[in-house]
Amino acid sequence: MKADYKSGFAAIIGRPNVGKSTLMNHLIGQKIAITSRKPQTTRNKIQTVYTCERGQIVFLDTPGIHKAKNKLGEYMVNVAKRTFQDADVVLWLVEPTSYIGAGERHIAEQLKNCKLPVILVINKVDTVKKEEVAGFIDAYRKLYSFAEVVPVSALRSQNLDTLLDCIFQYLPYGPQFYEEDTVTDQPQRQIVAEMIREKALRTLEEEIPHGIAVTIDQMKERPDGKIVDIDATIICERDSHKGIIIGKQGAMLKKIGSAARFEIERMLEMKVNLKLWVKVKKDWRDSDYLIKNFGYDKKEI
Ligand code: GDP
Ligand code: MG
Repeated sequence: MKADYKSGFAAIIGRPNVGKSTLMNHLIGQKIAITSRKPQTTRNKIQTVYTCERGQIVFLDTPGIHKAKNKLGEYMVNVAKRTFQDADVVLWLVEPTSYIGAGERHIAEQLKNCKLPVILVINKVDTVKKEEVAGFIDAYRKLYSFAEVVPVSALRSQNLDTLLDCIFQYLPYGPQFYEEDTVTDQPQRQIVAEMIREKALRTLEEEIPHGIAVTIDQMKERPDGKIVDIDATIICERDSHKGIIIGKQGAMLKKIGSAARFEIERMLEMKVNLKLWVKVKKDWRDSDYLIKNFGYDKKEI
């Protein structure tokens, strides 16, 4: 180990849809956290690892800090709070705007208690005029005393080198925690479930609100090592939703399945035989039991 090697944890926070998953994916250069146009796609803490000769950054993706409306909401807030306890530095992602709302003030309040250096990342600067950015920085500087402010475009990988420099500045010297080729410690099954969920949300467009979850019932590699058989269930809240998800003569489910299969094959680098089922479980979002059943960790509820 080099004497000046650095390693530590960076928690990513910010409103849903601000580009947290996109940022992580572009930093790591491989798709792990899922992205969607619908808010709150990220439900679990997803750890991604960035390794280079300077050191290793372990990113903790957090579900948005917001006021909890149901059990699942509470769960997500708790995960976010726990993530802070592990972190050396916080990345707070915001939209490029000088409008600061109640949500931002709520996050700023939370951050004051955690006493960590906070890097403000103004994302999506590709959507605004260059000369506007200084005004956004000023507006945010009035809200909180940031260690750094870095404008980026996660989608276009703009200014991410500067962001990495800033993060390393706030990490302690330390050993490499993970092997060089590690990109996440999330179990493969969970990643597969999230990929299916993402494809379902995208394919269904606006038709189903957030009430879907995905469980992996079986995932098994064939002895020849060339094909993985996966059985998965999409869980929704209403019979009417089940009908929509399945579609006319199964057309919608087929579409979801083939989109998901494509992505899973790319990740696993082998052929995938994916079977999808749809089940109705009413009010699953309000049930501790069902949240646990879907792989969310009970300890964090
Ligand atoms: P998350 O909910 O914070 O994880 O947000 P996502 O990463 O899922 O991104 C939400 C949406 O914003 C997606 O449609 C992304 O493609 C889009 N997005 C993310 N970063 C950028 C960016 O830098 N520029 C633009 N124009 N869009 C972005
Ligand atoms: Mg996300």
